[in-house]
Parts: sequence; structure tokens; C-alpha cells
Amino acid sequence: MRLPRIVVAGAGMAGLVTAVAAQESGAEVVLLEKGPAPGGSLALSGGTLWCARTVDDLRRLVPRGDVELGRVLVEDFPAGVEWLVALGVSLAPLKTLPDRTVYLMEPGPGAFITHMAERFQSGGGTLLCNSAATELLWSDEGEVSGVCVRINGEARQSIACDRVILTTGGFQANPEMLSRYFGRWSDRLILRSNPRSTGDGWQMAQALNAAPSRAMGSFYGHLLPAPPAQVPTHDFIAYTQYHSEQGVLVNLRGERFTDESLGDETNTQAVARQPEALAVLLYDDTVYRTYAVRLAGGGARASDTFYESQALGAPAAVACSLEELAAAMQAHDLHGSSLLATLREYNQAVQDQRTAGLVIPRRANPNPVSKPPFYALGVTPGITFTLGGLRINTDGQVLDRGGYPIPGLYAAGADAGGIHNERYAGGLCLGLVFGRRAAKHAASH
Ligand SMILES: Cc1cc2nc3c(=O)[nH]c(=O)nc-3n(C[C@H](O)[C@H](O)[C@H](O)COP(=O)(O)OP(=O)(O)OC[C@H]3O[C@@H](n4cnc5c(N)ncnc54)[C@H](O)[C@@H]3O)c2cc1C
Repeated sequence: MRLPRIVVAGAGMAGLVTAVAAQESGAEVVLLEKGPAPGGSLALSGGTLWCARTVDDLRRLVPRGDVELGRVLVEDFPAGVEWLVALGVSLAPLKTLPDRTVYLMEPGPGAFITHMAERFQSGGGTLLCNSAATELLWSDEGEVSGVCVRINGEARQSIACDRVILTTGGFQANPEMLSRYFGRWSDRLILRSNPRSTGDGWQMAQALNAAPSRAMGSFYGHLLPAPPAQVPTHDFIAYTQYHSEQGVLVNLRGERFTDESLGDETNTQAVARQPEALAVLLYDDTVYRTYAVRLAGGGARASDTFYESQALGAPAAVACSLEELAAAMQAHDLHGSSLLATLREYNQAVQDQRTAGLVIPRRANPNPVSKPPFYALGVTPGITFTLGGLRINTDGQVLDRGGYPIPGLYAAGADAGGIHNERYAGGLCLGLVFGRRAAKHAASH
């Protein structure tokens, strides 16, 4: 019997997992990578492979995600981890919060990428770099029959196959799509991702009437120092303001606009909707010492997120009184008086233990801005990957607008949308779980 031939488009987290899993299931696999080497955003990541511990935990972490796909994500994650370990991947379990299961790729994502790529190639798989999938081919029988590939930006050739699995990593690097889904200030978003995830998977599948998932207007990202600072691509994590959930965020009017304690990824989307997609992150010396200065760990170097961001050119100020801080930030086009009033009202609410009753409630981390010196840093959203994408079923098959699987077409990783929505519970886990699901189904049906 002829082996099924599968083309996997994109060699990041989802693509590497999918290619190896499809090969294991008996398929002949061609793995395409648009860039010069496999890795994608996985190569830039902290390599923390994590997922909600239980389905109920996922519902709390990501209340608006797809229920059925979310259940599969949580239930399949442990088997995915076991599979990686059996392949020889080094994963160290980490103790963090009780509602999540966390592993760290050791010594880092680079080793994971090398291991998976070598495993794939030594098993007979074909990895083609500088090779971008551009178009899906469709047979007279009404199923996917191949893919057109642009090699080194020039020649086009087609590869015939039985199935195509799209793993191109979402559309965060496509400005036109960003403006369609993220609105007025989308051109201010800083790309906190590999630069090649330009929505190719989405666009190829649209030609076959693929359906959009939910969450098209939502993305995963983190706050980064605002321009004119320019964060070096290889060092995103050192400048990421994960601790915004411990501080106070105000917009250019000097007003709070979100419950900061919901988490930095939620704050990031809230800032994206504010004027100029800009905000000021404020905190006192206690928060600075406890959260803004970070030791090395979790795959990241030690960093002082405030002073290093200031050194990159981000609008920033340190002052011994809130009045001075507000005046200093006025020089960066902030209304000093409203900023001051906002901070005083917030501090009073912390003191009275009624932050949950503020017009913009603060439900957790009620840290006062009370111990000098005080810190203010201009921040703007960095987009890491899009949470909306192609609508899939639990086997990773891409669905058409009538809700039926498109024969021969699959998606995994950030190309498959709706599993998370507004909130997030891991990016790498999506590629692991749905990459394996898509591979198994594609190889056996
Ligand atoms: C700084 C940073 C830190 C992160 N830290 C973590 C973390 O610790 N834990 C976590 O869970 N997540 C983390 N993430 C997110 C995680 O990296 C992504 O969620 C994950 O890599 C997405 O997997 P993917 O396979 O969908 O996309 P990617 O890994 O980005 O891979 C997509 C690949 O497709 C290729 N491609 C694009 N178009 C084409 C085409 N037409 N043809 C062929 N190839 C194509 C791209 O070049 C790329 O190599 C982080 C991301 C960043 C940027």
C-alpha cells in the first residue's frame, strides 16, 4: 500500500511536532519552512511548555475559549509531554501555580528544535528551508492534492500530496490583517514574534472557503517599552513588562482603563484599544524591587526591566514624590493633573480596602503606589501570536463555512484559532496537542 504523503507548512513548534508525529504514524512527510532554518517563534520563546492542569482550571484561566477544543487541549497535554520525553526531548518539570502544569525545555528551545529536526530527517523526512507554501492545490475529486511552494523567493514549484497541515504560526506579522481585526491603533503594535508569520496559512485556506474561528479580534502578547525604544528581537523577554499586573496603568488621559491584576496579556489587549495604543505603567519601590527586577530563570537572562527599557529610549521617569512623577510624565504628553488624581484615588482605595469598588475595579494585587522612589514607564503592546485563526475540529481538520471538514486540510498551532480567547494558557501547548492530533488523523484517514 502507498504511504500517505503529507506536506506540513511551517517548521516552528506545531510544524516540528506535526512532522515527527505524522512520520511516526506511517506517512511520508515534507516539512516546508519559509525562513532559512526551522524554529519560528519557538526559537525566541522562553521554552516554557505549560497548560492548565484541569478543564476547570482552563475555564477559569480562559473563560471564553472553545469548550470542546479546550477539553482536548488539557486532556491530551500529559500524553504529549510523555511522547516528547520518549523521543528524547529534555523537559524539566517546574513548580509554579497550582492551576497549571509546567515544563521547561532544557537547556532551551534551541536544543528542542535541533532534536526534533534531526529526528525528523534521520527518520527519512524532507525538510525544505527558504521554502514558503503559497497556494493549495485542489483535485477533481474535491480534496486537497498539493501545495505550491516559492523557493528562495523565486521559483515556484508544486508538491503533490494527500494532505496539507498548516502550521505557519498565525498572522501577527501581517499589517493589513492586523488593521482588519485589531482596529484603529493596530499599526502601533510591536511585533513580538518571528517576522514570517504573515497569515499565509489563513490566506491559503480562505481560497477553499475555510471558516474563521472565534477570537478573531484577540491576540496574545505582552507590554513592551514604548517607542522610541526598539527592543532587540533576540531579547524580547528581558524587556517584557510581565509585572504590569502588579502596577497601575493609565492611558494618555491619565485614566485607568482596565483591572491590571487580570494579567499582563489582558492588559496588553486593553492598551491596544487606548489612544495611540500607549499607556504608562506606574509602581513604587516595593513593586520595582519585587517584580520589575528579575533574576535569570525560565530560560531568560536577569534583567532590570525599568532601567534597561529607559536605556533603550522609552519614555520613563523616577521621582521621590507623585507630584514630581506626574510632572515628569507630562513632558511625555501625559496630563499630569489627571494622572495625579488617578493615583491619589487609587491609593486611597487601597488604604480603605475597597479597590474592587473603583469605577475600574482592581480585584487582586492591591499594591499601593506609596513607597518612594516612584517609577513611570511608557508601554505599548507587543503582539506574539493571534488567538483567532482557522476553525478546526478536534482532529485538527479545517472546517469550511458550512461547518464541514475541508477534505485533506488541517491546521495546528497558532494557525488554528479559538482555543484561547482574550486570555491565554500557553502557546507551545497548542502546537503540541493539535499538531499530534492533526498528524494522526491525516496519516490514518
Ligand atoms: C519572546 C517570546 C517568548 C515566548 N515564550 C513562550 C513560553 O515560554 N511558553 C509558551 O507556551 N509560549 C511562548 N511563546 C509563544 C510561542 O513561541 C508560540 O505560541 C509558538 O511558537 C507558536 O507555534 P506555531 O508553530 O504556531 O508558530 P511558530 O513557532 O512561530 O512557527 C511558525 C513557522 O511557520 C513558518 N512559516 C510562516 N509562513 C510560512 C509559509 N507560507 N510556508 C512555510 N513556512 C511558513 C515561520 O517562518 C515559522 O518558522 C513565546 C513567544 C515569544 C516571541
